[in-house]
Amino acid sequence: MSELNIFLGPPGAGKGTQALKIATEFGLAHISTGDMLREHVSSGTELGNIAKSLLDEGKLVPDELVIKMLLERLNIEDCKNGAILDGFPRTLPQAKSLESLDKEFPVARVFVFEVNEDELVKRILLRGEMTGRSDDTKDSIKVRFEVYKQDTQPLVDFYNEKNLVNVIDAVGEVEDIYNSISRYFKL
Ligand code: ADP
Repeated sequence: MSELNIFLGPPGAGKGTQALKIATEFGLAHISTGDMLREHVSSGTELGNIAKSLLDEGKLVPDELVIKMLLERLNIEDCKNGAILDGFPRTLPQAKSLESLDKEFPVARVFVFEVNEDELVKRILLRGEMTGRSDDTKDSIKVRFEVYKQDTQPLVDFYNEKNLVNVIDAVGEVEDIYNSISRYFKL
């Protein structure tokens, strides 16, 4: 049985930073669907060609494509000790796709990252300047926030009903935020 840990939160909340640290410390696979899609774009695969303009506009890649990509990823050896899902699920159909894996890959914990919108915009624009990430622009950020509110935020209720949610105050020092997440892995 390989437990899944879901990192849920708006763009710029710091999920990727924390996912990498937790995965390294606890020997879990770090699965970022955003990173995977960007790799498809840069290597010019069929999926990458479909995803490119959607990513730049801040829209979601269609569920069936992302679900297929994720399920294939879970079959790779490094997931056998469990995984952190960073950026998946982002919609209700994506969350439901995990329910059918419940025997092999049960969702163990869901971390909801909370950061106010002013701080998020600041972080994303800074990241765009530093990394040149093509979707870290003012226009795309607006769309990504809307998509988050409409499609992804309902997942908080979905997982709350299953009593899996831990809310994380994700404003502050990286190390302090890390400590507030890692304690759940030591229980
Ligand atoms: P952020 O959370 O900062 O927006 P990500 O790297 O997680 O950054 O995602 C970047 C983009 O990749 C999203 O805006 C979306 O277009 C696409 N993407 C990532 N994960 C998913 C997913 N689970 N479903 C659909 N699209 C996704």
